[in-house]
Amino acid sequence: MEQSSASPHVLIFPLPIQGPIKCMLKLAELLCLAPDLHVTFLNTDHNHRRLLLYTDIQSRFATYPQFRFETISDGLPEDHPRSGDRFMDLFDSLETVTKPLFKEMLSSGIGRPVTCIIADGVLNFSFEIAEEVGIPLMYFDTISPCGLWTYFCVPKLIDAGELPFEGDDLDAPIKSVPGMEGFLRRRDLPDFCRIGDLNDPVAKIIVKEVQLVPRARGLILNTFEEVDEPVLSHMRSLCPNLYPIGPLHTHLKMKLATEPTPPGPQQASSSSLWQEDRSCLKWLDAQPPKSVIYVSIGSLAMMTSDQVMEFWYGLVNSGHRFLWVRRPNSIPGGDWEGQIPKEVLEATAKRGWLVSWAPQEEVLAHPAIGGFLTHSGWNSTLESMVEGVPMVCWPYFVDQQVNSRFVSEVWKLGIDMKDTCDRVVIEKMIKDVMGLRRDEFVVSADRIAKLARESVSEGGSSSCNLERLIEDIRLMKM
Ligand code: UDP
Repeated sequence: MEQSSASPHVLIFPLPIQGPIKCMLKLAELLCLAPDLHVTFLNTDHNHRRLLLYTDIQSRFATYPQFRFETISDGLPEDHPRSGDRFMDLFDSLETVTKPLFKEMLSSGIGRPVTCIIADGVLNFSFEIAEEVGIPLMYFDTISPCGLWTYFCVPKLIDAGELPFEGDDLDAPIKSVPGMEGFLRRRDLPDFCRIGDLNDPVAKIIVKEVQLVPRARGLILNTFEEVDEPVLSHMRSLCPNLYPIGPLHTHLKMKLATEPTPPGPQQASSSSLWQEDRSCLKWLDAQPPKSVIYVSIGSLAMMTSDQVMEFWYGLVNSGHRFLWVRRPNSIPGGDWEGQIPKEVLEATAKRGWLVSWAPQEEVLAHPAIGGFLTHSGWNSTLESMVEGVPMVCWPYFVDQQVNSRFVSEVWKLGIDMKDTCDRVVIEKMIKDVMGLRRDEFVVSADRIAKLARESVSEGGSSSCNLERLIEDIRLMKM
């Protein structure tokens, strides 16, 4: 198709970590299916190198002539872990190194003029730069709406004297988050609320984020109206222009299956920052239906070696088969691996499979999977929801404490293990989700999975919201 220089051109800028990159790439591909939109995806050099190393993303996107990747420095040395206790270095460096480079990039131009920026909601500096260079900005918050809504309510919690906490009773009820009265406790608030210091670096970023997000032209969310309606209706009082267009991975799958373009494979490419070990799919093929519990703590959470042993005994003692992702460098220090008891290794050889990174969407869709022991990252939660897989939740940080409460108390999709990491509790919860209480969870899981699929089908809520987003992007062209 002949394109005029005035065609709409979207620049997508994710927070440079696995979850946001993955779902923003899905959004990028969905936007590419509208042939009049030009799309540029801005990766950090570090992540782009990893994507090129571990995926076929370059050739996948080569099927879209109006798409290009751009890269920018995150300012950290290549061997920096960008996780664990050095995760916040990334935010400091984005602010000091990447921010000026981003401004320079937009001022000097990246080919055709950018008519709309879609930035991760936590990239606070993108708002300031977009204003300076005069380009409309939309935010995409890739965390859960329930988590984001608790962020929005932090000022209310402070005014009501509910934050910072007084005393150490984490089970005390929280009353000042509209829509969550009755089931939210202190321990369900985002982890930074426990620090008790609003000058903590994470708290400062979040306080700024909730001031800026409502000022953007719109807020894109990876959810669907049917599952999050109560929270979305509260959020609309602050951000009237919401675009809930998820679950994005299912949305893209659905569109690729029904649209005549692109000419390439009719399925999305992997966007993993680690090498996917596909041996686990073969192993799953040999397991009975619904017999395996899948275990993963995502791309950022860490475990101590003691916690690993509690998980391991819990899994082995449950008697169930398990597929366990142990991400490289997610268990710092020690030579604990040399000290695993023989009986644990033998049970693992019989009933378990360990990988360092899995093709998670395919794993969760596999008929052998019966449950998910998860850190409750929002992408993982959605991926589990879509496949109707009940969860045991062991949240780590950001929105995950809220998500796990919603999984157990609102959506009834599983059990919230929260702040416990004890082999006896893990064993019991796995037995509950895989057997004793399974029926209770499967009813809700099947219902919500169906709603998710309907929302991304033609005429469904997420499908209509995506059409509206594309139309609004077109109207923004200069
Ligand atoms: N993931 C994956 N393979 C793994 C573990 C995780 O592909 O072995 C993907 C998972 O499908 C999800 C993302 O990594 O899309 C993790 O995002 P999430 O929001 O769940 O958690 P985070 O990593 O941001 O804490």
